[in-house]
Formats: sequence, structure tokens, C-alpha cells
Amino acid sequence: MDNFIVSARKYRPATFDDVVGQHSLTNTLKRAIINHKLAGAYLFCGPRGVGKTTCARIFAKAINCFHPGNDGEACNECESCISFNEGRSMNIQELNAAANNSVDDIRGIIEQVRIPPQLGNYKVIILDEVHMLSPSASNALLKTLEEPPSYVIFILATTEKQKILPTILSRCQIFDFNRMEEADIIGQLKKVAANEQITYEERALSLIAQKADGGMRDALSVFDQVTSFSAGNITYDSALKCLGLLDTDFYFRMTDAFIGQRISECLLLFNDVVNKGFDGGIFMGGLASHLRNVLVCTDAATATLLDASEHLRQQYVEQAQRCHPKFLYRAIRACDKCSNEYRYSFNKRLSVEITLIELAQAANSDNDDASGLGPTQKLKPLFKDSQPTPQAAPTTAQPPVQRPTPPTAANVPPAAQPAETTQPQPAQPAQSQQTRPNSTLRAIHTPSIRLKPSKPVEEPSPAKLQEAAPQYGNAPINPNMLNYYWTQYAKGLPEEESALRGRMEQMSIQLRDNGEVEVWTNNEFVNSFMKPYLPQIEAFLREKLDNGSIHLQLHVHITKEQTLRYNPHELVNKLMQENKGFANLKNSLGLEPD
Ligand SMILES: [Zn+2]
Repeated sequence: MDNFIVSARKYRPATFDDVVGQHSLTNTLKRAIINHKLAGAYLFCGPRGVGKTTCARIFAKAINCFHPGNDGEACNECESCISFNEGRSMNIQELNAAANNSVDDIRGIIEQVRIPPQLGNYKVIILDEVHMLSPSASNALLKTLEEPPSYVIFILATTEKQKILPTILSRCQIFDFNRMEEADIIGQLKKVAANEQITYEERALSLIAQKADGGMRDALSVFDQVTSFSAGNITYDSALKCLGLLDTDFYFRMTDAFIGQRISECLLLFNDVVNKGFDGGIFMGGLASHLRNVLVCTDAATATLLDASEHLRQQYVEQAQRCHPKFLYRAIRACDKCSNEYRYSFNKRLSVEITLIELAQAANSDNDDASGLGPTQKLKPLFKDSQPTPQAAPTTAQPPVQRPTPPTAANVPPAAQPAETTQPQPAQPAQSQQTRPNSTLRAIHTPSIRLKPSKPVEEPSPAKLQEAAPQYGNAPINPNMLNYYWTQYAKGLPEEESALRGRMEQMSIQLRDNGEVEVWTNNEFVNSFMKPYLPQIEAFLREKLDNGSIHLQLHVHITKEQTLRYNPHELVNKLMQENKGFANLKNSLGLEPD
């Protein structure tokens, strides 16, 4: 069996021309060699695996070559070049400052540079990870950098230029190495694959390049790994499996489902992702990155920020044309938030699902709420109720008049509207004095199913309500009866008002002096949800208790427990209670909290 040499070593560039993706930089070095204008110290900065040490070695070989070419490259044939290529040259010293960061280590180097080179013209000292040197070691190095012997050239390499002492920076010629572009990495991988007789799918190489994140050494290591995993035939699927990556296709399909507001499809897609063994938090992070890519493609100017193959780029651009930028802002923010909070979530799966549902609802570009700026986190009904809205009051326990239809522009509180009027009108207490609401009102009102009225009519002031209610008596109010009729009202609500019913049953009410009734809610959202319903509930209570001075007042009551999260089952129950569509969905998909 042949000795296996890892590709990163086997295909390490031997000449400047072999170095991938750093052309302007290698050209500068070659010109310096041709013109014999060499500095005493160089600093190579850049991300890991982009060729810093490789260039330093090629440079050291080229300046010691006995017969350098006109292009500044080493001949690779002379004695010096051969000793370099065989790794036995005494003219190159490599030291990793991460492991040798003491003053003594630096002093050892300084001792060595005192001896001139036996073969060739220069001694090259390569100090890798130079930002790891201790302060005293840095100072010791500084002295030598100031006045190096003419035959010594220092090449310092670092991934973190900002950590280098300014006094050292000022004594070096600085070369900034670029992160490698995907196309460059793919090009190199193709060469290696051809040389090793490995077959491949181009999309798979693209995956490897993405995983390497701009570093050639990493790319070649990953390439080796995928090659052995897929037995010499690198397919897209085998690369996905080996690298534990999720197909970008999932993200495209998920975003398409958002755009089409197909909530069920979102949840089923996510189910696939989970079944494939992927972590929901990582999926959300990936989705955020995907949406970011779509966002940068909405504008031709920013599309250059996308580092992807041409085929993939076209896919992004195509999807970007169908997405509203406002939606993308909001979606990126929501996904990012979800992936950050995922670890701490009680029910991880549900928290992802809720984010997906929100985004599918927010994808409608006509919706101003999609700006991502407002606190519009509430869920809307998932499905439009196709059943005809019931026209009759469902129970006999309460008079039909008080059916609490949320007031809208075309639908004002019954207590304040005369029966004859069919036009939308603001509440007019003076008229309702003459005409008490009666059952004919039912024909006028179009029951609405939305959770929150889009245009809540301004609540009549307590003073006006007092005026509006002289037809009621002034019987003493029994707190028990008050509670009883409150519950009766809730129980008598039709199915489509189940959200209101659920909330009323959970609220506590308290009778105060002069007919004031305090209604305690859990939070501001419930508070504003309840507000439009108050006049109708009030009218009901006034009639039942024969007391016109009853007046409901909303208060928010926050306890310590309520500031905590819901546990998964509570959350599901709460959502099911508030939203019939969610309940339908949960049942039809058979979803259960983890
Ligand atoms: Zn040579």
C-alpha cells in the first residue's frame, strides 16, 4: 500500500505561479526578487490556510536560488533549490511562536542568525503565529529587527495583525493575504481531482469550498475526507452526508413556502430536516444565512457580496425577485433570534415551528407589519374558516343582542347603534337612549372572525356611557352574581369567539364602589384585545344585574410567574385555545411538543 500523503501537503505550491488566489501579492514578491530590493522583515497577514507560510518558503527558496529565472521564480534544479525541496536547507528556519513564545526561544534564533549562510545568500527566519509571542519576547525580537545582519530576512506570519506591536509593524513590509474565493478553491480542487483520477460533481466541490470558508488548506483536507467517504466518486449527496450539511435546496424550498404562505409545507419541510438528524437551531442559523444571501441579491450592487457559484447565484437572484425586502429583514431577524434562543428553549421544535409560521404569515408584501420593525409577533389565524358564519345566537342562556361582535368600521357596538341604521356610524349614545338594541340588529352585523379588530372604534367615555344607560335600574350589585353573569357571557359566546371566551374565563374581576368593576388581564396584549369587547359585556351585565352604573375597567396584572416562559404544553394549549387554526393544524399533522 502506498504511503498516503494528504493533499494539502502533496499539492502545496512549489512556485509563486502555483499559489492560488494571491496573484497581485506574489507578483509584488517576484518583482522585489528580480530587482534585488529585499526588505529585512516582512509581515504576512491573513486568514489561516491561504498560503502565508507557503509563500514564505517559496520566497526563501527563490532568493537563494543560484539560477533564478527572469520571472523571479526559483529554478528548482540548483543545489540550493534541491536542498530546499528536500527540506534539508540550513538557510530556512521555521518557528511557531504559539509553541515557542519565550524570550529564550527568540534568543536562540538570534544566536543562529549570527552565522552567515553556507550555501546561498540569505538566511530566512519564518516566525509563524507571531502574535502569540510574549511581550518580552516581542521586545527581544524588535532589537534584531531594527538592525538585522544583511544576510538575514525575517518573515513573520499572523492571522491577527491587530495584536502585533506597532513597533514591530513599522519595521516590516506588510502583505495582506486574501481569503480565497470559492471559484479559486474549486479550480484547485478540480486539478487535484483530475490528477488523482477522482470523479466528482461540480456542486459537491462547491460544497467543499463553502465548508472550507476561504482557506485552501482546509479545502484540501475536507476534499480528502470526502474522497475517502465516497470511495473516489464525489457526488453531491455523498458530500452532504460526509460533511453533515443540509442541502441548500431545503432553504430555497422553505423560502418558497414562505412566499406562497404555505404554512403546512413549512412545517412538513422542517419535519424532513429533523428526520434527517439536523439540529433545529443550526437549521435556523442556516436559514438566516440563506435569507441574507437572498437579501444581498435583491440589489445588483450588493449581489457581489455573495460568494457562490454562478448556478447558485442565479437561483438566489431568481428567489430575491419574488421576495419583499421588508419581509427579508424581518425573516433574517426572526431566524437569527430563534437560532440564538434555541438552546434555552423549553420546546425547541415548537419554537422553530412558530417562527416558521410567523414568517409564512409575514411574507405577504402588502402587509406593512412585515417591516420587521414593529412588535408584530402575534399569530394570525392559520386557516380561513370556510364555514358560513353563524347568524343565530348559539345558546339561550343569553340574549342575542349581546353577541360580542368586534366593532369594525362597518360594525359598531350594538349597544350604541340604532336598529334602523345600516350605515356605519360612530357610537351615538343620544340615539341609543331612544332605541334599545334588539334582536333585529343581528341581521345588520357581519360577524367577524379576526382575533383583533382592524379598526377598533374608540371606546365611549365613561361619562357618555353613564348618559346612555338611564334605562337600567340601580339595583344593588351582588359580587357573586356579577361573577356568575361574567362567566355566563363567556360561556354563551359562539365557537368563532373562543379566543375571547378563553380569555374571559381566565380573567379575574373585582367589584369596587359605585359599580366600578376592575377587569384584570395578564398582559398588555390581552388588554388591548379585550378593549373593543367591553361595551357589549358592560351592556349585558347592566341588563342582567339591572344596574346602569356598572362600568368595566381594564388593568394589567403581572405576577412573577407570568413573566416566565410557558412550558411547552402550556404554550400549545394556549395557542390552541386562542387559535382554532392552530388546533386544526396540530391535530391534522399529529404534532406534539417534545
Ligand atoms: Zn535554483
